[in-house]
Formats: sequence, structure tokens, C-alpha cells
Amino acid sequence: MAEVTIRALEKSYGGLKVIHGLDLDIPDGAFVVLVGPSGCGKSTLLRMIAGLEEITAGEIRIGARRVNNLPPSERDIAMVFQNYALYPHKTVAANMGFALKMRGMNKAAIRTKVEQAAAILGLTPYLDRYPRALSGGQRQRVAMGRAIVRDPQVFLFDEPLSNLDAKLRVQMRTEIKELHQRLKTTTVYVTHDQIEAMTMADRIVVMQGGRIEQVGAPLDLYDRPANTFVAAFIGSPS
Ligand code: ADP
Ligand code: MG
Repeated sequence: MAEVTIRALEKSYGGLKVIHGLDLDIPDGAFVVLVGPSGCGKSTLLRMIAGLEEITAGEIRIGARRVNNLPPSERDIAMVFQNYALYPHKTVAANMGFALKMRGMNKAAIRTKVEQAAAILGLTPYLDRYPRALSGGQRQRVAMGRAIVRDPQVFLFDEPLSNLDAKLRVQMRTEIKELHQRLKTTTVYVTHDQIEAMTMADRIVVMQGGRIEQVGAPLDLYDRPANTFVAAFIGSPS
């Protein structure tokens, strides 16, 4: 069974359709990258999975549950955004533990979860700092820490690295992949950067104009692009 199952999914804003009947299976434990040019509907699709955007038609299931009408808090997902706004007046530890506090978890249990996540992310020395005293990469790790402490069934990333400089972007790619290898949490990762997609994905979903052009492993797309759009986008010589 797929971890996330998408069937005949549509989204319209006003009268304008931006997602046109998508079908997609995201396997349990996979690292799936949604890639495509700006405006093709990547964020809209991710936000519908997260429950941040209403579904116009179709169905989304997470595990066996149909989540169409569930609020984000009941979907067992955690999302990391491009503009990972940290709470400026809370410490790193408080930022990471905030969602757990909202759930009513007790202080000692929160501290344990936060310390475990901090150890994984190399944030242990920074737990008592405030966000302003962190580098860009450290802030990004805190944003990931907020997601990890919740032990979600699915991680959703929307262009999490696009505000970082090129060198740090490459480093964070590796860190996110290592994290996935360690936790094996099903991940849907959005980027418009084909190199990021090729280097990070088990499976790439190429989108254009609210449709899926092709789904496949990075090398499959490179060797056997379904059409000229995929070939040009992935950069294979056909
Ligand atoms: P991507 O993330 O691939 O850049 P988006 O999912 O943000 O693309 O956008 C897909 C399309 O939906 C674009 O044409 C965009 O203008 C439109 N869109 C996104 N959000 C809204 C909104 N809140 N209202 C109206 N149109 C929107
Ligand atoms: Mg987007």
C-alpha cells in the first residue's frame, strides 16, 4: 500500500483550474521529489496533501485514511517551508518543542524529543540560543527539527533550500538525505531545481501546467524521457 495515494485530484482557484486530475502513488518510505517550472502546481499539490488548501475534486489518502476533509493537525504530516519562520523570541529548544507543547505533551517528554532531534541535526550546542544568533543553515536545521520531533508519517518539504547560498544548499541536500536514510520517513520534496531532484530523489515526478508529465527514478527519466519537455527539463540529450 502506498503511503500517500492521490486520485483524480483537481484544484481550481475561482474558475481557473491549476491541477488537472492527478493520479500519484507515493510509496511507504520513499523520497519523492516533485519538480517542474515555477507555477506548474507543485506547492498547490503539496499544500493539498498537507491540508492547507481545499481540494476541488478527487481524493487524497494517507495510509488507509481518506484525508480530504481532515485539518492539517489531524493528518500526521509535518511540513518544512522555504520561509521557515522561527519564533524570534523563543529559544531553539522552545521553537522545536512548540508543536508538542500545543499537543499537551509534558515538559520532560518534550525535552527528551527535542534533545534527540537536536543530536540528529547537530543542534545540541545551540538549544538555548535565539534564532537571530544562528546561521542560515542552523535555522534550516531548526525548521527540520520542528518537523522531526512530531514523528510524522510523512514529511513535506517545499523548496526548503532556496533561501540558502549555493554551498550550503549542497551541504543541506546531503544532510536531508542522511536524515531520510536514518528515519526512513516517507518524504515529498518540492523543488524547481533539476539537479536537486536528480541527486535527492528515489523517484521524480515531473510536472508541467498542473499535470504530471512523467514519474520515474532519476536515471530512468534521464535515459528514457517520455517527451521533449521532460528531456529538456532533466537535461538529457534527446
Ligand atoms: P509552483 O509551486 O509550482 O511554483 P503553485 O502551486 O504555487 O506553483 O501555483 C500553481 C498555479 O496556481 C499558478 O498559476 C499560480 O498562479 C496559481 N495559484 C497558486 N496559489 C493561488 C491562489 N491562492 N490564488 C489563485 N491562484 C493561485
Ligand atoms: Mg511553489
